[in-house]
Order: sequence, then structure tokens, then C-alpha cells
Amino acid sequence: MAETLGWIGVGSMGHRMTKHLLAAGHTLVVADAVSTERAPAGAKIAKSNAEVAAQADTIILSLPDGNVSEAVAREIAAASPRKAKTVIDTSTIGIKAAEAVAATLTKAGIAFVDAPVSGGTAGADKATLAIMLACPAETYERLKPLMSLMGKPFYVGPKPGQGQAVKLLNNYLSATALAASSEAIAFGIKQGVAMQTILDIVNVSTGRNTATEDKFPRRIINEKYDAGFTAKLQLKDIKLYLDNAREAGISDEIASTVVGVWTEMDKAVPGADITQMYPYTRDGRRKGTK
Ligand code: NAD
Repeated sequence: MAETLGWIGVGSMGHRMTKHLLAAGHTLVVADAVSTERAPAGAKIAKSNAEVAAQADTIILSLPDGNVSEAVAREIAAASPRKAKTVIDTSTIGIKAAEAVAATLTKAGIAFVDAPVSGGTAGADKATLAIMLACPAETYERLKPLMSLMGKPFYVGPKPGQGQAVKLLNNYLSATALAASSEAIAFGIKQGVAMQTILDIVNVSTGRNTATEDKFPRRIINEKYDAGFTAKLQLKDIKLYLDNAREAGISDEIASTVVGVWTEMDKAVPGADITQMYPYTRDGRRKGTK
């Protein structure tokens, strides 16, 4: 059923996700602290986050980090008049922030849904995001048709932060695969083997992973380096993973090394796409052996 939805944050992800809600016939009230220029045509523009809270029962957030989500949750809770009854946060904010946002909203009688997404701007564009929802099971059932307009919803569990946990562990695995594959492929090439030969063999063998199956064949072998995801953004996610894993008492030897490697790469090649991890590694900059 078409309804009036609120949306706060129309950045790289938000402006792409909102267009699917409008196309499905929903009315959209949108706010962004910096600019609403990228809001899709047909969306109503609100002057503040409080104005969104006054006009929509359900509000979706797509914000840069946990501090911002916490601040926006406080604004929604304090809004008067206020219509907001459910807030769905699609931002990557980590477990602690998700718990803090949930506490602020619950105190104000507003339901919180932790709903981080995976699939990048391409997934946001094509409505093929993986959406990891943590909330009561009945809330999930209610929101499933709405979230399906933007991708594939998964029910993760009832606790705020459980969606964050799955999102972060996925990005940690992906970042690890790319860093480790860059080392391994640089090694193979140093032995005089062609990259294509290495990929052909690894991809039908036990070493295959998202880097060897996707990033190397589509974006690295042709030197395009165009995954569209910067090392800086990835670092945000894997640092959150490392912090959250440490708090959970999980071994972090590999995670701390991976975070270290990506930190150095981001410093050495500012603004780099994640796929530039390969030339960075191949050229031996990390060890000063170029
Ligand atoms: P972005 O920085 O492009 O967009 C965030 C938007 O929030 C900006 O337009 C900003 O002006 C707005 N904003 C900031 N503070 C605000 C406030 N107080 N009130 C209202 N609006 C405010 O970020 P993005 O790339 O669109 O990512 C959004 C979230 O999705 C992040 O948490 C990110 O980690 C996550 N994510 C991003 C990707 C990706 O590929 N970009 C993929 C998956 C998940």
C-alpha cells in the first residue's frame, strides 16, 4: 500500500535507493543536512530532519556514520509535532551506535530497525542490495515488501546491532580476500606466470574468492581499477569490524593486520579505489622494496 515515507540522507547510496520507492508509488519526504540536490524528482523536500519526523510514520536513514545516526535519532525523538513510529537505519554504524540509536528511539516510543546494506552504489541503482534487518520478527514481516523495492531483505535476528555484525564481517572478509589475493598474485607473476593463467587455475581451485572471481578479472587485469568503492570507505567498515570483534573477545590477529595494510594503502594512495590494492602491493611500496 502506498504511504508517505521519510528519508534522511540522500548521498551516494540514498539518492539511488529513494528512486525505487517513488517508482513504486510511495510519497517521499526527504531531508539532507548538506544538499537535497540529488533527491529524485517527485520527492518532497523538507527543511529539517524534524520536518520529516512530523510528516512520515516510517523514516529511512542513509547517513555517514554512527555519530550522525545518533544525532539524527535524537532529533527525530525530540520532534514536535511527530508522526514517526518506525526508523530504519540503512547506514553502516557498528553495534554500539546501533544500540544507542535503538535506546534513544525506544525511549520515545519509536521502533528501530537496524538495516545495513551491501552491494554498493551499483546495487543501490539496480535495487539488488542485500539488506540485513535486525528487529522483531513481526516488524520484519511488515517491512519486507517495502525493503524488497531496494534489494533482497534478510532477517538477521531481533537485536539491534545484529545487522551491523553481519555487514561488518562480510566487509572484513572481502577486504581480506583482496589484500591477500594481491600478495599471492604478485608472487605468481614474479615467478613469470601470466595473471590470466593464475586466475584461470585459482578460480577452479580452492583459493578462489571475490577478488579472484570478480575484481581481478573485471577491474584489475584490464587496469581499470573501477570498483567504485574507495579504500577510505572500506577502512571505516573494517575498523568498525576490528573494534567490535575486540569488544566481543574474538581473536583479531588477522583483522588487525588487514586493517594495518589498508590504512597504509589509504595513506600512500589517497582517494584510491579498493582495486588499487593490487598495484600498490605488486610495487612493494608497503615494504619499501620497490
Ligand atoms: P554519503 O556521505 O554519500 O551520504 C550521506 C548523506 O548524509 C550525505 O548526503 C550527507 O549530507 C547526509 N548527512 C550527513 N549528516 C546529516 C545530518 N545530520 N542530517 C541529514 N543528513 C545528513 O554516504 P553514502 O556512500 O551514501 O553511504 C551512506 C551509508 O551507507 C554509510 O553509512 C555507508 O557506510 C553505507 N554504505 C555505503 C556504500 C557505498 O558504496 N557508498 C555501500 C554500502 C553501505
